[in-house]
Amino acid sequence: MKFIVLGSGTSVPHPHRSSSGFWLETETGSLLLDCSASAVHRMAQENLDWANLDAIWISHFHLDHVGGLPAFLFGTKYAPETQERKKPLKIFSAKGLRKLIEAFDKAGEYNLLKQPFPIEIIEVEPLVKFEIFSGLEAVAAETPHTDESLAIHLRDENRKTIVYTADTGFAKTLGMLARDVDLLVMECSFVKNKPVETHLQLDEAMYLARYAQPKRVVLTHLYPEWNQIDFEREVKKFSPPCEIIESQDGLRLEI
Ligand SMILES: [Zn+2]
Ligand SMILES: [Zn+2]
Repeated sequence: MKFIVLGSGTSVPHPHRSSSGFWLETETGSLLLDCSASAVHRMAQENLDWANLDAIWISHFHLDHVGGLPAFLFGTKYAPETQERKKPLKIFSAKGLRKLIEAFDKAGEYNLLKQPFPIEIIEVEPLVKFEIFSGLEAVAAETPHTDESLAIHLRDENRKTIVYTADTGFAKTLGMLARDVDLLVMECSFVKNKPVETHLQLDEAMYLARYAQPKRVVLTHLYPEWNQIDFEREVKKFSPPCEIIESQDGLRLEI
């Protein structure tokens, strides 16, 4: 399984951290985890086969996670690369996804769902297993961020596992969801003294890493206050239980 960071940042414009988007590729397909406005072009910058993308997961409806979705669908409608495509594009999220896409669509009568290929909108229930595509199993869990926010646990045909928390406040259930995974992609918006309860700061992220015992952790959704911080030094203070990797746009990992 290949994991590529498209955007390691937040909604705050930043010179080298674009908004959330992660590319996951298994032997049987590709999945985009969150679709910020910048993720649409970052896929092309990373030479990824966006025209044959199999599925998109939207963790929640904040615009730094979903704002690129209508723009991407507007692109695939007209791009030469997608005119011959026949396989469906599946879009997964919590309840409310269809309503959101329809609201975007109505705003400009774009007919975003009329594509050269079928679009499938799938609203998932927390804690109910589902299949992203053949060979990639998923289960989602609620997180304390917005009403619809979901973390996702994925397992490929080689039994490699990954959890993407997306934006979240502190919840021990995340540690349970991520128990023993090969890669935990966890938000860590703030270093310390977080101004809101609906995001994580470093000590909480390190607590969850110790609790979950994953093989590796990528800390992402980094607000600009991380600019001034020596990441390695800061993380070392917590005697981390495994390798903790600072998310960077363009980071590539083999799982
Ligand atoms: Zn966000
Ligand atoms: Zn958010």
